[in-house]
Amino acid sequence: MCGIIGIIGKENISNSVKLGLQAVQHRGQDAAGIGVVNENCFFVHKDPGYVVQALEGVDVKGPGVAIGHVRYPTAGMGAHIREDAQPFFCRQPGVVMVHNGNLTNCSELKKYLGDQSIYLSTGCDLEPLLYIFCDKLMKIRSTNHGIDDVVAALKETYKLIRGAFTIVAGLVIRGKPTMFCARDPYGIRPAVWGRTKDGYVCASESVSIDILDSEHKGDVGAGEVMFFREDEEPKSYLIDKKGIAPCVFESIYFARPDSIINNNSVYKTRLELGKKLGQEILSKNINVDIVSPVPDTSIPAALSIADTIGKPYAECFIKNRYSARTFIMPTQVCRENAVRLKLNPIVSQIEGKKLLLVDDSIVRGTTLKRVVSLLKTRGKAKEVHLAIHCPPVLNPCFYGIDMSIREDLVAYRETLKLGIDTTSPCLDEQRRMEKQIAVCLGADSLTYLSIDGLNSVAGRDKCAACFDGKYPVQLSDTLIEEMRNGRKGISCACTTS
Ligand code: SF4
Repeated sequence: MCGIIGIIGKENISNSVKLGLQAVQHRGQDAAGIGVVNENCFFVHKDPGYVVQALEGVDVKGPGVAIGHVRYPTAGMGAHIREDAQPFFCRQPGVVMVHNGNLTNCSELKKYLGDQSIYLSTGCDLEPLLYIFCDKLMKIRSTNHGIDDVVAALKETYKLIRGAFTIVAGLVIRGKPTMFCARDPYGIRPAVWGRTKDGYVCASESVSIDILDSEHKGDVGAGEVMFFREDEEPKSYLIDKKGIAPCVFESIYFARPDSIINNNSVYKTRLELGKKLGQEILSKNINVDIVSPVPDTSIPAALSIADTIGKPYAECFIKNRYSARTFIMPTQVCRENAVRLKLNPIVSQIEGKKLLLVDDSIVRGTTLKRVVSLLKTRGKAKEVHLAIHCPPVLNPCFYGIDMSIREDLVAYRETLKLGIDTTSPCLDEQRRMEKQIAVCLGADSLTYLSIDGLNSVAGRDKCAACFDGKYPVQLSDTLIEEMRNGRKGISCACTTS
């Protein structure tokens, strides 16, 4: 998961990009970058760190195009943070590009490019995408490209690339800086666009549009490309649409609650997920005194659950907003200290109480296990019952979310031990699995939202493969095995997105 933005405007374009990127800083804290097309001049700057550190001092006024990227942090990529950060630039025909997502056939793309003596120098999957697009564009017309040429080059590129991606690029078309935003054939990763006071903006989430005091106009559709040029209305073309399957995890966890993505309010979706889960908890007769969220993502769902089951909502943790990331720390002691630093229980709220602790999801389970332990030891909670506002994560994600190794998933491991079909268990099997995982996490009970509950809120047109195993973009068994075995086989795929 990464955050991307593109601006076309007359002034302060780099400052607008920096502001818009800060609004999606939650989508990546590893590195930030900016690329500018200003008349016929291209400029790229990228560095490790948060937006304010990485892009400090960058100031390009415009007019022109500026695009930006925040990179999602992943373990094991530390030595290449700067090289793998985005944007990437190709001199001929002159394109700066960022993307959010993950290409699933990088090995093939690397070979395809190698056969034409085009070589890669980084581990980022944007690099082959950019080089293939530029190669196709140059073959269609070597100079003075028109929008039709770019559309044709994208169509050729889409025939070769597989996976989930939203691309934002800046280039010069017929002498004029131009920005385009293109989404994969299923619209798996999000893309929104809006109108600023002197141009246009496109981004991963609408919060980037809000912060620029601009008008949110809607989504870039699945398989669609939109072109934005100064003093012209946006132009839209269909490149290749295969279906509609936006990532449901965006609404559950990734996106900011104040964002509108895929034309839905994320906050409202989380309230509805909480309501459904509350109804399922009622049917299990779990007896609790208070309902509390693990801050911040699960707050709307916890409010809704408290309302549905008729128990008081109470905060049980204070979150330290300045603590560092916890999940890449090298030792167990470090990680436990980090959880204590990040979440401090409010003993006066918890002591002697039976708590229903609401969280958005369980992936590896390691953090939640420490959180439960913290509530019971330091917080002196009498009982901790868990309520998770999504179904069990049983399948890896190959579309840009850092959970491509199935054996890392606690629900998969524990389900396997029970001899249950791990692809998509029925509700009875899910309830058996919940007991097993609750023990594993040291909790008194656990309730996941059912798949039916998720479908009733999110509808059928979505990617929910990590829950139900139905992948919109098919992968070969070999590739799935390679990705499950630690991403070793995808030689140029990065999990930057
Ligand atoms: S597999 Fe899960 S996390 Fe990945 S794109 Fe689909 S819904 Fe999102």
